[in-house]
Amino acid sequence: MTARAFVVGHPIAHSRSPLIHGHWLAEHGMAGSYERLDVLPEAFPAFLRGLAEAGWRGGNVTIPHKEAAARLVDRPTDHARRLGSVNTVWVESDGRIAGDSTDGAGFLAGLDAALGSSWSAEAGTALVLGAGGAARAVAMALVERGIERVLVANRTAERAADLARLAPDRIGALAVADLPGALAQANLLVNTTRLGMPGEPALPVSLEALPEGAVVADCVYVPLETPLLAAARARGLRAVDGLGMLLHQAVPGFARWFGVRPRVTPALRARIVADLQASP
Ligand code: NAP
Repeated sequence: MTARAFVVGHPIAHSRSPLIHGHWLAEHGMAGSYERLDVLPEAFPAFLRGLAEAGWRGGNVTIPHKEAAARLVDRPTDHARRLGSVNTVWVESDGRIAGDSTDGAGFLAGLDAALGSSWSAEAGTALVLGAGGAARAVAMALVERGIERVLVANRTAERAADLARLAPDRIGALAVADLPGALAQANLLVNTTRLGMPGEPALPVSLEALPEGAVVADCVYVPLETPLLAAARARGLRAVDGLGMLLHQAVPGFARWFGVRPRVTPALRARIVADLQASP
């Protein structure tokens, strides 16, 4: 039977995942399919429970269903349970639904691809802006990569405190007012907020205090060059866009559903860049 996978969210029209997985299916000459599904939150539990019966191998889960998926899957990985978020699900041989979160690993792989893996040895202190789902995945990935100290600043302070509870000895919550002082110690700055996206203001953060040689990464990938990244480049700092994270988080799902570990190539990146430029 032809393997079928999906991305489920609401709304879902702008998801680039079908383009990414479609590229890999064509590259490997596979007959599988990867479909875009718009499912309302109230219909999501029944959708997830019915995966095996409907013939799906699995799929990606995106906003606003990632937290619900973490509660609903039969077998979340330890990592997904800890984060409280699932972005990749698959049907196991006994029909049970398993789920993992690949956002954090995707973020690290994107940085490795852009900078080489030595960036992590130099990072020392990382500063994460935001405390939503992406921030939780990024902060935990940084801890697991061995980054000494991860500081989190968020508009809603309680959410940053909650994130810090994931690893209290390594992650600290920071008041937004204390950001200027913290920037001077941060060798890695990561934006995980929505700021910088179309219709959102730019991040109100000056990069002047960042040390020479710091890295600035953005999870936002529409636009690819956010005002934050432009400011980093203008200061001569290394800047990494959010597209690498998007491409690399997709790899484990494809491997689960279609049985081949795909590669993130310059041709794939160029294809998605062209699509983002044509319809941001
Ligand atoms: P989320 O859970 O809704 O979190 C949104 C974050 O943005 C929160 O920290 C929120 O602060 C902050 N925020 C929103 N509006 C703000 C404002 N006006 N001023 C200050 N802070 C504001 O969303 P998410 O899933 O973490 O996604 C966050 C971003 O990461 C999105 O742009 C998303 O596209 C991107 N992302 C990218 C990838 C990738 O593969 N590249 C993967 C996942 C997410 P409060 O807590 O105060 O509301």
